[in-house]
Amino acid sequence: MRQLIRNVRPLGAPPVDVVLDDARIGALVPAGSAPGDLPCLLDGEGRLLLPAPVESHVHFDKTLWATPWRPNTAGPARLDKITNERRVLAGFDVPIAQRAGPLIERCIARGSLVFRSHVDAEPDWGMAQFEAMLALRERYRDVIELQLVAFPQGGMLTRPGAADLMREALAAGADVVGGIDPAGIDRDPMRHLETIFDMATRYGKGVDIHLHDPGELGRFEIERIADFTEAAGLQGRVMISHAYCLGTFPLAELAPLADRLAALCISIMTCAPAHTSVPPVAWLLSRGVNVCSGSDGIRDAWTPLGSGDMLERAMLFAHRFGWNKDDELAMAFDIVSAGGARALGIDHYGLAAGCQADFVVVAAETLGEAVVDHPLERTVVSRGRIVARDGSFCGSR
Ligand SMILES: [Zn+2]
Repeated sequence: MRQLIRNVRPLGAPPVDVVLDDARIGALVPAGSAPGDLPCLLDGEGRLLLPAPVESHVHFDKTLWATPWRPNTAGPARLDKITNERRVLAGFDVPIAQRAGPLIERCIARGSLVFRSHVDAEPDWGMAQFEAMLALRERYRDVIELQLVAFPQGGMLTRPGAADLMREALAAGADVVGGIDPAGIDRDPMRHLETIFDMATRYGKGVDIHLHDPGELGRFEIERIADFTEAAGLQGRVMISHAYCLGTFPLAELAPLADRLAALCISIMTCAPAHTSVPPVAWLLSRGVNVCSGSDGIRDAWTPLGSGDMLERAMLFAHRFGWNKDDELAMAFDIVSAGGARALGIDHYGLAAGCQADFVVVAAETLGEAVVDHPLERTVVSRGRIVARDGSFCGSR
C-alpha cells in the first residue's frame, strides 16, 4: 500500500514528504509536492526524521526489567560479577519472556528496531535462555530484527559444556558466535580464537567477542582476531566489543592496527563508559574503522543502569569524549544508527528510496538537539507502520 509521511526533515535537511511503498521508502519529495490522494500515515509538522537507531550490543536474557528494584550485590572483579549473576538468576523465578519482552518493547518505544543480543551459553541452564530468546524473536519478528549471539559469559574452555551448548544454540538458530577474554577468562587465547572461528566457519556465522583484556595483552588478541578474520574470510562479519585496551596506547602506535581493522571491516563496539579507558572513537572513525554502540546490560545483576534509549546513548558519547560541536553530535548519532547497521550487516538501512521504512520522527529542531535532549516526543515507524508514540509501544504483547 502507498501512503505518505508529510512534512519531516531528514536529519535536519529541508522538509520533505516521504512516499511509502508498503514496508519500503518509495521516494522523498519536497514537502507539499507528493500526490494529494495518497493516505497520510503521519503529519510530521516539520519534525526531524531519523533512521531508527541500532542497538548493537545488549543482554536481554539476563535483564531484571519489569521486576521490583534489586540493589546491586556484585563484587568488584569481573569474575565476582559473573558468579554473582549466576547466583541472582538461579534464584529468580520470573521467566525471561516477562522481563526481556517488556524491555524489548521499551527499546522499540525509544526507536530502536534492530538489535544484537548476547545470550549466555551457561551449562547450568542448558538451552533455556536460547529457547526463550528465540521465542521472543518470533514474537516481535514483524516489528524488529533481533540477532542472537551464542555467548560464553562464564568462559568457554574453562567451563565444561559451554562450547557444546554454543554449537547447539548455533544449530538452533543463533546468528553469531560469541567469545570472551580469550586470555583473561579462558586462559588460552589461541585455542579460544581457534575454537570460535572454527564454529563460525562450520555454521556460516559471524563473530562478536567481548574483549576487556587490558593493554598489550588486549592488543595482541586484537591482532590475532584480525589474523583469524582474514584466514576465515570473515571480513565485515566480526565485531570486537569494548576493546578497552585501544584506549591505552599513543595513537601513532595504534595506526597499523587501526588500518588493518578498517581493511578487514572489523567493527568496534563501545558503550562509551565513563569508568574506564575506551577506544579513541573519533580517531578510529577518521581511519575508516566502523564503530557502533549498545546499551550492554540494562538493569541486571551487573548494573541497575540503562534506559534502552540509543539517542541517550549518543548523548553519553558526547559526555565521554567532550563532544560539543554539531558535527560531533552528528557523529555520535551516526555511531548509534548507521554504524550499527554496517556492523550488523543490515543492507536495507537508511533514509533513501528503497530502504526499509524504519525511522523515528522526533520533536527536535536539529540532530544535535535530538541527541542532547533525546525528547520522549517521538513517533516510531517500523516497516511503514506506526509502532510507538511518545515513549509507548502500541499494542503490547
Ligand atoms: Zn556485553
